[in-house]
Amino acid sequence: MSRLSDERVTSLHGAGGELMGKLLAERILPAFRLRRAGPIGLDELDDGAVIELPPGQVVVTTDNHAVKPFFFPGGDIGKLAVCGTANDLAVMGAQPVAITMALLLEEGFSLADLEAILTSAARELADLGLPLVAGDTKVMGRGELDGIVINTTGVGVAERAISDAGLAVGDAILVTGTVGDHGMALLAAREGFHLQTELTSDVAPLWPLLAPVLAAGGITAMKDPTRGGLAAALNEMARKARVGIEVRENAIPIRPEAQALSDLLGISPLEVACEGRAVIAVTADHAETVLSLLHAHPQGKEARIIGRAIPDYPGRVVLNTGIGGRRFLEMPVGDPVPRIC
Ligand code: MG
Repeated sequence: MSRLSDERVTSLHGAGGELMGKLLAERILPAFRLRRAGPIGLDELDDGAVIELPPGQVVVTTDNHAVKPFFFPGGDIGKLAVCGTANDLAVMGAQPVAITMALLLEEGFSLADLEAILTSAARELADLGLPLVAGDTKVMGRGELDGIVINTTGVGVAERAISDAGLAVGDAILVTGTVGDHGMALLAAREGFHLQTELTSDVAPLWPLLAPVLAAGGITAMKDPTRGGLAAALNEMARKARVGIEVRENAIPIRPEAQALSDLLGISPLEVACEGRAVIAVTADHAETVLSLLHAHPQGKEARIIGRAIPDYPGRVVLNTGIGGRRFLEMPVGDPVPRIC
């Protein structure tokens, strides 16, 4: 495969024949050679993988990634496809142990871009020590798909899985970092403002940050504020647990660049996705310990306690806006940024 830069995906790449085998063997599989999760893995190209799991509760999650643009400030669809799924496991309290990846490609998609995307995904997997155990590639005709869609399915193991519904009155609510970075960075890229702003996506794996926090105990609920952002995550947690959540608006960490863009575009950073943050509910007596553990990790430097679960307004989120002002932080109605993840 010479002159990769102008080579394109063709229908033959998805036909399961010689050309697809060459693409897999030469361009894709070499990037994914990692520690094995079982006696049969990706290398065998068998009909399925066999994995061996440590003791505990098995957690499974799946996600389609259709972000646009495919390369954005701070990341790309490959990195996002790994982090998005690994993070859903992490906020369930599960260590990611295996992942699968299924590619849908549009005929004509650049092979150089594909290689860059897969190399980026492989880098994240290597950092996490997470083996890719199964995969699939299908090619759709021109116009039948917009470029690339990546499905990843993750398997994780938790000592005791954490739901997003477990919070109780009195629990402290934390976020692990600034909110809305991913959504606002994507918006900036789409609107052509990316050269004027330093804002980059927060896309990153959460497990290295959350593992020590989970070990410390006291966590009652967790969620990654992806689509719908912090507003959707808090509302969902409040509704499921039938408690109110009171948040101090000025405690929510927001990058000045994200706020500036928000002021310009009229889209709230509280309503757009993060891809490397967690919302954590923790018993009041563990809150400071959890906060200092988060601060000890490079990804948790800007973690804050932003509020608490309250008996009033069950199912609602109340924002204290300072100087005695209060308003409900509503569940976002639609997605202000389509194809954000
Ligand atoms: Mg999630």
